[in-house]
Amino acid sequence: MVTENALPRGALRRAEAVLAALRARYPRPATHLVAANAWELLVATVLAAQCTDARVNTVTPELFRRWPGPTELAGATQEELEAVIRSTGFYHSKARNLLGAARRLCEVYGGEVPPRLEELITLPGVARKTANVVLFGAFGINEGLAVDTHVKRISHRLGLTAQTDPVAVERDLMRLFPRAEWGDVNHRMVWFGRDVCHARSPRCADCELAAICPRREPPRERTARTPSRAGSRAGK
Ligand code: SF4
Repeated sequence: MVTENALPRGALRRAEAVLAALRARYPRPATHLVAANAWELLVATVLAAQCTDARVNTVTPELFRRWPGPTELAGATQEELEAVIRSTGFYHSKARNLLGAARRLCEVYGGEVPPRLEELITLPGVARKTANVVLFGAFGINEGLAVDTHVKRISHRLGLTAQTDPVAVERDLMRLFPRAEWGDVNHRMVWFGRDVCHARSPRCADCELAAICPRREPPRERTARTPSRAGSRAGK
């Protein structure tokens, strides 16, 4: 049995205000990654670990031109793929994970991206965050709430969670926001993190949430030497 962590006092009330404010600020949120289908979104999300979406968007057109789907990519070599994705950083592990994912999709799932979280997380380089991004972005499924660096930071500052582990943060946010909103909450927080609640210098004077924000800083994160198995983010 999973025991639920205590939410910060007033978190539910703040979550309602956060949802209203972010919906007003970003009526039609969307990912910054350019992807035409579930496979492309999965690849782009893996590449976006420790990299900007803009950079990923410069790399993926050539990648998808040469290898349009898992079947084609499964036949590529590590060196060929590394040469294309090099500028996204951590290209050894990203190439290894993408080739492993392509081959597993071909061997186990008929070359298709499965629309189920428990199957997605069996792919190399894919954990809950990437799986949640793909499920919502490609299939419209709200199975969980993708917690990336923006979501984690903003959730702490706004007193929505006291957790540090992304899965525990996700669990708290899933209790605070309606299920139908989970995917959009991720997108909206990513945009808000880029526009207003910056990591180093949040623009609190310009923030519509300043009156209710306790401005709690999350514990310092250790610098990762390599991207996590999840691909470490859903939006930069
Ligand atoms: S008041 Fe400042 S810390 Fe709080 S959400 Fe707004 S920008 Fe972020």
